[in-house]
Amino acid sequence: MKNIKFLFIILFLFTLFCFSSTKAFAFELELYYDKVEELLQGNANSSLEDVINSISLGPDEVIVRSKVDHNMAYKIKEVKITSEEQLIKDMGEDSYNDLTNSQKALVNAYRASQQQSVEDRKSHAYRDCKVNLYDTSDFEGNNDLDPTGLKQRIMETDFWPASYAKSGDIRIGSAHFANQTNAEEGKSIFIHEYSHTLDKSAYIDGMYGLDKVHYLDEITTERAAFKEAWAEYNEMIESKDRVKEYEKIARKNQLLKIESDTIGGYYRKEDKVKAKNASAEQLLANECFMATLLYRIHEKTGNNSKGEDKVSAAFYATNGEDNNMSNVIKQFLKDNPEDAKVVYEIIDKTLLGKMTDKEFLDFVGENEDSLAYVENRNKGFLAKLKDKYFKKSDSKKDKETANNTLQESEEDATTAIPVDYEDGKISSEKVQLNNNSGNPFED
Ligand SMILES: [Zn+2]
Repeated sequence: MKNIKFLFIILFLFTLFCFSSTKAFAFELELYYDKVEELLQGNANSSLEDVINSISLGPDEVIVRSKVDHNMAYKIKEVKITSEEQLIKDMGEDSYNDLTNSQKALVNAYRASQQQSVEDRKSHAYRDCKVNLYDTSDFEGNNDLDPTGLKQRIMETDFWPASYAKSGDIRIGSAHFANQTNAEEGKSIFIHEYSHTLDKSAYIDGMYGLDKVHYLDEITTERAAFKEAWAEYNEMIESKDRVKEYEKIARKNQLLKIESDTIGGYYRKEDKVKAKNASAEQLLANECFMATLLYRIHEKTGNNSKGEDKVSAAFYATNGEDNNMSNVIKQFLKDNPEDAKVVYEIIDKTLLGKMTDKEFLDFVGENEDSLAYVENRNKGFLAKLKDKYFKKSDSKKDKETANNTLQESEEDATTAIPVDYEDGKISSEKVQLNNNSGNPFED
């Protein structure tokens, strides 16, 4: 009898444990509005410390130090966002239309966090996520602050959209959107950063190169390209504009840039390589080609019988520290063998037929299907592809595309897409004062 009682107690405790652990697995996604109220700086008479000490902080107010300029800090009022209405009120306006464009982008980031597709993604979260929306609109385009614009750029860098690899938290600053006209960008940026928090593949030091910056048209490393491709793929499935934008870059005539391995942030013209002259290894290290690879597979194969996006399902099934594109593709093919031929052709098309048969088999996994494809590869699909890509002279349309995208990427130099770096690391990414001449804020 005593034993039975003991058993019941154990059973009771076990049930309690199960209940509490299920609860613990519902990870939070919380958003905060951070209004940058004041810029604090040391001067000839008082150090930054003295200035900070002389400030009296009201409720919800905090001091955040600049990571770029050690003589700068911000007084910020932070409130948890409970509704769009409250967020707009905290921004000091009655309606969305009264906001600045950069504030509208922050509202759109919040809206994105509330949509069903993010709710669905939340089931794949493996940690809580705190999102800080930094509003620096009071200082944007304010020439009285600093006519050279340097302080504004420091601010932009301090609050540049990013997802922290270690904590899984996100920050999105309004300054990033100050010169953009499309406030919907805020939505894509949120989707991008939130997708990063779901990815378990390890951050590798130096994977973005010396400048810790990555560009859509840059050849970085396979891991960086994989991580960015996942985030960009998520943007693509949410936005047709993004699909157009990225598809335009992932083409044979796109010039891809390579950072100098001795001078951070230095991209020499002569180091650029046209995609069609790049190696398979180089294309696998470009985020835009990899994002497009995932998207093209999604586009041609759709959802599975459970209504799940097949590409995402393969990503989550392989999600782990050492994950890579080949793992995801192999998982996809295992789950959806009927799509094998389509996927093989998309890989060859996107990688411009650059893989050798051996590399191809390593990438997709060796089995009856892939061996049969490879047997005919050089006579069949690949022969046609090579003919199209390399023998015929470039069509007028391709030449036009090449020129357009080139211009676009050169202009892009100051608007790199969000960079992700480890907690506590200095972000010195996109502040490029003049054409790729290195960075004055390098730590
Ligand atoms: Zn990213």
